[in-house]
Amino acid sequence: MSKHEFQTEVNQLLHLMIHSLYSNKEIFLRELVSNASDALDKLEFLKLTDEKYKDLDLPSKIVISYDKEKKTLQVSDTGIGMNDEEMVENLGTIAKSGTKHFIESLTGDAKKDSHLIGQFGVGFYSSFMVAKKVEVLSRKPLEEKAWRWVSEGDGEYEIEEAKKDGYGTQITLYLRDDAEEFASEWRIKSIVEKYSNHIPFPIYLVNEKGEEEQINKASALWRISKSELKEEDYKEFYKQISHDSEDPLLWIHTRAEGTLEYYTLFYIPKKAPIDLFRVDYQPGVKLYVKRVFITDEERELLPTYLRFVRGIIDAEDLPLNVSREILQENIILSKIKKSSVKKILSELKKLLEKDREAYEGFFKEMGKALKEGIYSDFENRDKLLDLMLFKSSKRDGYVTLKEYKEAMKEGQEKIYYIMGEDENLLRHSPLLEKFKAEDIEVLLFDDEVDAIVMPTVTEYEGTPLQNISSVEEEGEVEKELNEKFAGIVSAMKAELGESVKDIRLTKRLKDSPAVIVFDKNDPDIAMQQILRQMGQEVPSPKPILEINPDHEIFEKLLKKDDEQTTRDIAHVVLDEAKMAAGVEVDDIADFNRRLNRLIARAI
Ligand code: ADP
Ligand code: MG
Repeated sequence: MSKHEFQTEVNQLLHLMIHSLYSNKEIFLRELVSNASDALDKLEFLKLTDEKYKDLDLPSKIVISYDKEKKTLQVSDTGIGMNDEEMVENLGTIAKSGTKHFIESLTGDAKKDSHLIGQFGVGFYSSFMVAKKVEVLSRKPLEEKAWRWVSEGDGEYEIEEAKKDGYGTQITLYLRDDAEEFASEWRIKSIVEKYSNHIPFPIYLVNEKGEEEQINKASALWRISKSELKEEDYKEFYKQISHDSEDPLLWIHTRAEGTLEYYTLFYIPKKAPIDLFRVDYQPGVKLYVKRVFITDEERELLPTYLRFVRGIIDAEDLPLNVSREILQENIILSKIKKSSVKKILSELKKLLEKDREAYEGFFKEMGKALKEGIYSDFENRDKLLDLMLFKSSKRDGYVTLKEYKEAMKEGQEKIYYIMGEDENLLRHSPLLEKFKAEDIEVLLFDDEVDAIVMPTVTEYEGTPLQNISSVEEEGEVEKELNEKFAGIVSAMKAELGESVKDIRLTKRLKDSPAVIVFDKNDPDIAMQQILRQMGQEVPSPKPILEINPDHEIFEKLLKKDDEQTTRDIAHVVLDEAKMAAGVEVDDIADFNRRLNRLIARAI
């Protein structure tokens, strides 16, 4: 017999399981059944691909039994099993990044955390929510030795050699006093039906009479025809494969026949998976070949911008022993991928047209990921553009590019947008003044990804997109005006010196005295922010200060030839323009001093 200590993270998790996560304890059974099903999957695969395993004869099944008197519950399978080393690795540590994320995202608030548990496959350790002691007896096929793993969830576990008839794993839970309810035929049946009805192996319950009674459908749900399935079937199956406690937003069930035969069942969740923006996210689509589970680790089954999609691809025409490397370049898979993407995008389009509210909910959760497709999936770019929602200067809610175009004013030839991080600053940007005065709508691109993605979109259905901060947007300033203000402009240039790239008059402002813009060859503010977030050093490019000749500040300055006032105004106006653009002011004390001096003089 050998004693071992749990890895620190496991102890943290166990502590939580036992002390904080009271609600929804029943999911422990879903987790044990799902592990049994995985173990059967793995062995099934070996039976089909490896000569050595061809003659194994036990039927693939899961058996649940219980003992009311002894307060125990057992889950057994005829799957791949574990030896002592594997027990240490699998039942003593947390290998999966998913579970690590789970621990990281815990808030310490028991209520919130117990809600979170639903979103994760918290796996084997959840048995300690209901058991004071857990025993795992396991034997691998083709091996003589069996092993017993025992723990009370108190920091350590023991492993010893043991005897077991037949290969597979048998897990015994010694139920806590407050979890006796689970040693009941009715309770077990209802939990299995709720969470595990459609796992592809039969689950038997040993009933009061000691007979094995099958309690699940054991059909690969995705291979059943749509007409035979009820909404509830789809929803349950979704919860089972996603660990989500909420219903899915929608599902897409397809059967392809003809030259290429395959089944797909995709789900769009209501809430974004919590690892959506992590580099080590867990892919949501599982690959089966002829009903046999192949992998749930392949990220390329769908494009990465659809990584929030959950579901199954089951291909008829792939060899079972497809290796990882082959998967990536497999022609059959790439065809399935291509038509799956088309299908998913067109269902999203339907949702957008049919149920705007639901679509907006979807877009708030998943829109940022979807946007990545605009630069990564050129083939579907137009479809993706149709699925985008944007904020706008003229509306509170969202607008699509199509709606924007339909609302364009007569004579308007471009789709205008402004880009930055802060919606509020964008809405009040001086650059919008003229557009507001002329009642022209301007899109607000305030998502981080917009700065990367949207500049690659130069037109939508023949109408060019135009960033309103770019220099080309200005009308010509009349020669006389330039001459009239030449003195002021050169005095300001002399004063501001190296802190600006240029100073010039502009016609694009209405109420504000000035605005800053950037040279065509310099990154604009949104781009600067992105680059910084990516950890790059970005030298702040010098802004161009554009001043509004119609503003009374400059009108009055013309009449009053006072050097100190001109200097103060130059600084104050530049700093104001920077603030309006969300750019940090160099010297706040200096700004205050100059502003106060101007105020005092004005009084
Ligand atoms: P996950 O299922 O996400 O890998 P779990 O905590 O549920 O995480 O299980 C941990 C590991 O323990 C599994 O990956 C598997 O290797 C092993 N395991 C658990 N139950 C069984 C079983 N019934 N048969 C064989 N291996 C099992
Ligand atoms: Mg598991």
